[in-house]
Amino acid sequence: MTGVVIKSTGSWYWVRTEAHKQVQCRIRGKFRTKGIKSTNPVTVGDHVDFDMELNSNTGVITAIHDRKNYIVRKSVNLSKQTHIIAANIDLAFLLVTLDNPPTFTSFIDRFLATAEAYHIRAVLLFNKMDLNDDVLEEKKNKLVKTYTDIGYTCLEISATLPSNIDAVKKLMLGKISMFSGHSGVGKSTLINAIYPGLQLKTAEVSTQHKQGQHTTTFAEMFAIPTEPESYIIDTPGIKGFGVVDFEPSEITDFYPEFFALKHLCKFNNCLHVNEPKCAVKKALEEGKIAASRYRSYLQILEGEEESYRTNTYDF
Ligand code: GDP
Ligand code: ZN
Repeated sequence: MTGVVIKSTGSWYWVRTEAHKQVQCRIRGKFRTKGIKSTNPVTVGDHVDFDMELNSNTGVITAIHDRKNYIVRKSVNLSKQTHIIAANIDLAFLLVTLDNPPTFTSFIDRFLATAEAYHIRAVLLFNKMDLNDDVLEEKKNKLVKTYTDIGYTCLEISATLPSNIDAVKKLMLGKISMFSGHSGVGKSTLINAIYPGLQLKTAEVSTQHKQGQHTTTFAEMFAIPTEPESYIIDTPGIKGFGVVDFEPSEITDFYPEFFALKHLCKFNNCLHVNEPKCAVKKALEEGKIAASRYRSYLQILEGEEESYRTNTYDF
């Protein structure tokens, strides 16, 4: 039988089948995942094969299917092992509010670059649209244009107005989704509108994370009764996919509009800062690249982490 792992404790894995049946499974002996040394061989989101145990209602996982992506949390202990938080994430939604609280473009861009690094499709949800005055409306239009132009899906919603939620639900259909955003942007409200009664821990932890959590946390997936089922992933204490350490030379790869021009730069290792004949800087001067995008790129490049790290706790 096959299914998707929706919950794990480290020794038991809850596997949900296509027939919406849930089987508690374990793994027998050593089970190695290809290519990655991790503290947990099987993670939430994994597609697995399993056999039922004789005279029991529990199962044994026999194989893990290849992952299309996975997010990790680096272990703080000396073993330098990685904990895989979740795998096969289809959509990473970022809730953005213009005001109350403000979401800065540096934060959005860091999120998008991280999603690119993880090979996860990111979608921006501009929430609290019912509160926009003319100034905020204009600001929103500008942001939506910036991000739509470079290929990201942007939806304008009000989590408090149920009619707006259908577009989000439609995108989520049959997929594994994750929701991130600053505290107060409306994650709980939205998730509750999508599936009344569902309360994610992600949405509850807010200040605690600032002290740094060194415990191993296990993500969990919640099935939403659509056909096919949709899943929302909850990452207690982690708040989404955290911070990736970027190599300066690879950041361009995670800015799609920079990446598209990279081959036109004079130097193939161009970082688009002071190099002559840089296609990215030329596009910036011509207004073809948003100034805010270039600024956030420089921030990541220069390791100016504070400006977004203080905001990043809410991931
Ligand atoms: P979270 O911290 O991201 O989970 O945010 P919450 O879901 O708790 O929302 C924070 C506050 O914003 C609550 O008072 C919500 O009622 C309010 N809120 C969320 N979405 C909207 C919206 O679309 N419009 C308005 N006016 N208020 C909203
Ligand atoms: Zn360049």
